[in-house]
Amino acid sequence: MSRQLFVTTALPYANGKFHIGHIMEYIQADIWVRFQRMQGNQVNFVGADDAHGAPIMIAAEKAGVTPQQFVANIAAGRKEYLDGFHISFDNWSSTDSPENHELARQIYRDLKANDLIDVKTIEQFFDPEKNMFLPDRYIKGTCPKCGTKDQYGDNCENCGAVYAPTDLINPYSALSGATPVLKNSEHFFFKLSDPRCVEFLQEWTQDGKLVPEVANKVKEWFSVRTNPDGSKSEGLGDWDISRDAPYFGIEIPDAPGKYFYVWLDAPVGYLASLKNLLEKRGESFEAYMAQPRLEQHHFIGKDIVTFHTLFWPAMLKFSGRKTPDKIHVHGFLTVNNGEKMSKSRGTGLDPLKYLSLGMNPEWLRYYLAAKLNAKNEDIAFNADDFMARVNSDLIGKYINIASRAAKFVSTLGNGKLNFNYGEDVPEIFEQSISEDVPSVVAYEGKVAFHAEINAMTPPNISNELSSEVRSLLEAREYSKAVRTIMDLTDQVNKYFDASAPWTLAKLGNTMRALAVASHCIELFRQLTIAMAPILPATASAAQKFLNCTDLSWNSLAAPLKSGHSLNGYEHLMQRVTPEQLDALFEAPASPEPERLIPAGEALAPLITIDDFAKIDLRIAKIVNCEPVEGSVKLLRLTLDVGEGKTRNVFSGIASAYKPEDLIGKHTVMVANLAPRKMKFGISEGMVLAASHGDEKAQSGIYVLEPSPGALPGMRVK
Ligand SMILES: [Zn+2]
Repeated sequence: MSRQLFVTTALPYANGKFHIGHIMEYIQADIWVRFQRMQGNQVNFVGADDAHGAPIMIAAEKAGVTPQQFVANIAAGRKEYLDGFHISFDNWSSTDSPENHELARQIYRDLKANDLIDVKTIEQFFDPEKNMFLPDRYIKGTCPKCGTKDQYGDNCENCGAVYAPTDLINPYSALSGATPVLKNSEHFFFKLSDPRCVEFLQEWTQDGKLVPEVANKVKEWFSVRTNPDGSKSEGLGDWDISRDAPYFGIEIPDAPGKYFYVWLDAPVGYLASLKNLLEKRGESFEAYMAQPRLEQHHFIGKDIVTFHTLFWPAMLKFSGRKTPDKIHVHGFLTVNNGEKMSKSRGTGLDPLKYLSLGMNPEWLRYYLAAKLNAKNEDIAFNADDFMARVNSDLIGKYINIASRAAKFVSTLGNGKLNFNYGEDVPEIFEQSISEDVPSVVAYEGKVAFHAEINAMTPPNISNELSSEVRSLLEAREYSKAVRTIMDLTDQVNKYFDASAPWTLAKLGNTMRALAVASHCIELFRQLTIAMAPILPATASAAQKFLNCTDLSWNSLAAPLKSGHSLNGYEHLMQRVTPEQLDALFEAPASPEPERLIPAGEALAPLITIDDFAKIDLRIAKIVNCEPVEGSVKLLRLTLDVGEGKTRNVFSGIASAYKPEDLIGKHTVMVANLAPRKMKFGISEGMVLAASHGDEKAQSGIYVLEPSPGALPGMRVK
């Protein structure tokens, strides 16, 4: 009987583009989902943008758009990543959808009816200029412990102290600079400390829904914990689920001006996206959720375990809903130097850059699979390791089987498989080969005699694939699954080498040579089935080459037969080159692209007019422009800024402009930027250009041009 699976990944916050951490989680979940579909299980795999909250409201205001428009701009960029890395979501929605508004309010009503909502008056910082309560991250001040200035309202980045915003010395609003005032406000709380919740969660978190490493960590939260104000309390505390207007979110029923805290309605977005999907299909959400066999799986990062192991299951349980069956927690991805990659650092492995360089998304899928396990451990991306695993293992071992065996089937069998070895290799064969060819059939330093060749049989790998590899993929032990698959490819390659079909063919024993190649093709088919969840596009191309209709897990046990025709073999995968990896991690050749604000992305922190006055912008005439030898990105501009001499500026706009098109034009430059020594010479300033943040590298760049009449040297203010 097939399983019914409802699978989600964590909802990304819609204030920026995907980073590699998102892509890793999606790949991890997608491998599992594709594996389940291959078992014949029914899967609904959904995602959504996490659209609400103060940071998005504030970013939208700064960008001069509505929060809805802001989120829509971000959402428009998602597809390029998801398609690019073959992530097979069935639906992508938003927590600002009508379904989510309705579901979140209904869950709240159900919790309230169950006497689990409390109202308490709390004292909070209020920005008198912006006329709003300030979230912790928008309050800054001097650390009360070590005295470091400009620290956030919840903890100090210098000494690591955790405190309440009210403990800060000289607090100020990061939005307006105003000194915040303390103001009372009524807040709504989910009574997590209620004995019913505590009892339920103590059991729910310890009965196998979490791997032991995570379950043990969660256990600690039921004992002593430190409150934000530094006091200690036993067990779970109530959870503040409301925020005051202005807030971009869902209004709390019967509480004007009060909104759900973004983390209340974010996980509800899983259900809302599913509901949205089912209704598009004309199916009933309620009926789907009511299936007793339905399994609910959430893939998340280790930073949001609290929300998914305490708040979310308790919300579902006490609103009378189905609770999750498994929370799959992964660690972070680090790159080379061990620095955690996050969007705030903005460095590391840029997923879109990876794709724009023509790098195969399945290299990354394979590499991550080779590193991931079921534990919440961090994994490291290392460029040398990446190249070795892709080129030596994936291509050198797995793809290699098809490319070498296909030749024999094509030339000896006219494209048709034949598994019949024919008659044994005669004793005379040994003698003849020692006379006619440089050596007898040699492998691993040994010499194969007729008896050994006759005894050679293809390895039986289908049992291990259908049982062990299957269990490992089910358990998300991908690295062990990949290791097992690679061990099996070794066996297949060893069989091929030891059987030496090229020597057999040379000596006229074409029947046996064809049989060896045919067996290897069949073994390649079996390996491809096991690899398909990790390498969906390669598996699909291999399926075309193999000319077989079924690539389900069950078809492991249905081998190809003699007489089966293959289609022509085309390269299934190229090798990764050191140049590609260098380009991937190379800093941008020109400072312009990284300084641009991608459309739809959060703006840089506020500056004062004095900060702006430090930047001397001048009208510049482009008196000459030429390509830069050795660089595909840069143009060399000679600029007249009215100084009686010209300046040399390199600009990363070669993909968008021909040099001759720019000569004679006026533009705007940063005239007081410190000269920068580059590989090709010194750059004495920077030309202003606009580009869309989600565009692939170097496409769609627009140099700024002043209205007619502006003269070189005029200051831009
Ligand atoms: Zn400090």
